[in-house]
Amino acid sequence: MANALVWSLDTTIVKIVTDSGLVGWGETCPVGPTYQPHHAAGARAALMEMAQGLIGVDPTQIGLLHRKMDSLLNGHGYAKAAIDIAAHDLTGKAYGVRVADLLGGAVTDRVPSYYASGVGEPDEIARIAAEKLAEGYPRMQVKVGGRPVEVDIAVVRKVWEVLRGTGMRLAVDANRGLPTRDALRLSRECPEIPFIMEQPCNTMEEIAAIRGQLHHAVYVDENGTDLNAVLRAVGAGLCDGFGMKVTRIGGLRPMATFRDICEVRAMPHTCDDAWGGDIIAAACTHIGATVQPRLNEGVWLAAPYIAGNFDVENGVNIVGGHIALPKGPGLGITPDETLFGAPVASFD
Ligand SMILES: [Mg+2]
Repeated sequence: MANALVWSLDTTIVKIVTDSGLVGWGETCPVGPTYQPHHAAGARAALMEMAQGLIGVDPTQIGLLHRKMDSLLNGHGYAKAAIDIAAHDLTGKAYGVRVADLLGGAVTDRVPSYYASGVGEPDEIARIAAEKLAEGYPRMQVKVGGRPVEVDIAVVRKVWEVLRGTGMRLAVDANRGLPTRDALRLSRECPEIPFIMEQPCNTMEEIAAIRGQLHHAVYVDENGTDLNAVLRAVGAGLCDGFGMKVTRIGGLRPMATFRDICEVRAMPHTCDDAWGGDIIAAACTHIGATVQPRLNEGVWLAAPYIAGNFDVENGVNIVGGHIALPKGPGLGITPDETLFGAPVASFD
């Protein structure tokens, strides 16, 4: 990405067990310590801050669970998300339904994904775009930023030579990495290429400053830090859509609220996470399956970049650019606990 190199990551898994023997799995996995103001050890510290106070709370009352978490710790939605996901998994199992059913109901069992390239040279990224088009991905996301903008412009032009007329949609994601000067050039010098610009600049203020001069729709990703930031961006007309991360916004329950806000304003969005294994992947797929198709920009998974699955049999993977919705109940996956080692903390 524009601001970071990533080689391996540290994920945090939450297992909730009820007195009746039901189990729910949750996960949160920041993509390193600089992508957002999140880090792996911070997630665990936040979970430990809340954990004892949550003993005795009914995990199937997910709204009340969120209020309880908020009474124990201010902020830290990315840590609360691990508990929220585990509670959805457990609640689905308690009622014998999929998490997607708890979230309003699935409109598909084959959820569209999209492929995100790294920051690369024009020929290499165009080659990847051709490969992903052939695999059946409906959308390609190209990463830009952190280098002379001339190279980014060359990448976008080369990729469009591959995608023009194919129907594959194109997103250009700077991950906050462009100065407004370069975002303006990228848009002005490719006015005929119908890409969306995802999180071109570091702050909402920079995006607001140039928005009226851009030829392209703007999506907010990293600046959509919570529901309040989403309401502000939507209310002020600062963007045309969102890249959204389940853990960043605080879990599946706030993610469903976000989805509904977007539907009110006809704003397309993704349902992703920054990283994570099968638990995160299943959570993103379940919420992604509930999005109105015309507004669904897809579910990105870390799976293509990760060796192996937590659930060898029912692991969540992308096939033909789409993800099969796990059948449930709950998230519909059963992690192999022997992969995780001993818990770093446990509370009862
Ligand atoms: Mg993004």
